[in-house]
Parts: sequence; C-alpha cells; structure tokens
Amino acid sequence: MTIFEKIVAGEIPCNKVLENDKFLAFHDINPKAPIHILIIPKKHFENIQEMDPNLMGEMLLFIQQVARLMGVDKSGYRLVTNCGENGGQEVMHLHFHLLGGAKLGWSDAVTNPQSTF
Ligand code: 5GP
Repeated sequence: MTIFEKIVAGEIPCNKVLENDKFLAFHDINPKAPIHILIIPKKHFENIQEMDPNLMGEMLLFIQQVARLMGVDKSGYRLVTNCGENGGQEVMHLHFHLLGGAKLGWSDAVTNPQSTF
C-alpha cells in the first residue's frame, strides 16, 4: 500500500484541505511553494497513465474547488503530475501538485534545470 492510500484509509494523518467521497486534498509535507497542496483520488490509480478518463472531469471540478479555497484561483497556480520514473514520481498513487502563492519560475518544476536534452 502506498503512503497516500494509507492517508485515505486514515492510517496516517494529513493536514486536510478538502475531501469528498471520491477525492482528498491535503498539504504536502515538504512544500516547494508557499502553497503546495496534493490532490488525490481515493480509488487507487498508479499514475495519470492509469487514471480513469471518466473520473477526470469530476477530479477537475474538485481541483478547481481546492484552488478557490486556497485563494489562488485568480492569482494563478501550477498543476503538476509526475508520471513514472522519468517523470520523477516517488509515490505510486496518482496525485496532482497544486503550487501557488508566489510567481513560479519554470526551473521550480524540474529536478535538474541545468540538464541538456
Ligand atoms: P511525487 O514526487 O511522487 O510527485 O511527489 C510526492 C510528494 O509527496 C512529495 O512532494 C512529498 O513531499 C510528498 N509526501 C511524501 N510523503 C508524504 C506524507 O506522508 N504526507 C504528505 N502530506 N506528503 C508527503
């Protein structure tokens, strides 16, 4: 079981922002922006590649609700999902990072901005 599934099951605590029967939003334990929220489906999907497209619309509504709640819907934010090894995914349960509260540079989104492709 991944750490996020344990959070959904209530086995590990989280700093909750918003919850409904299908999704959960909580503060990232190691924030990389003044506002850093993780948004997950309660049902297990390893990553975006495995996600049920029929659930994505509802998840988008939930994400938009979280952005309003955090007061970043007007100021703006970045929504990121890391997928698999090259995407830098560490927790193998689909999650979106909602990052805001400051003007973000693009290098904030990559682990090695110096790398050449
Ligand atoms: P990934 O690299 O998989 O896209 O992101 C995983 C994120 O989960 C990281 O930003 C990390 O700080 C966060 N994280 C890992 N373990 C925990 C935890 O137990 N609680 C919370 N709230 N965040 C966690």
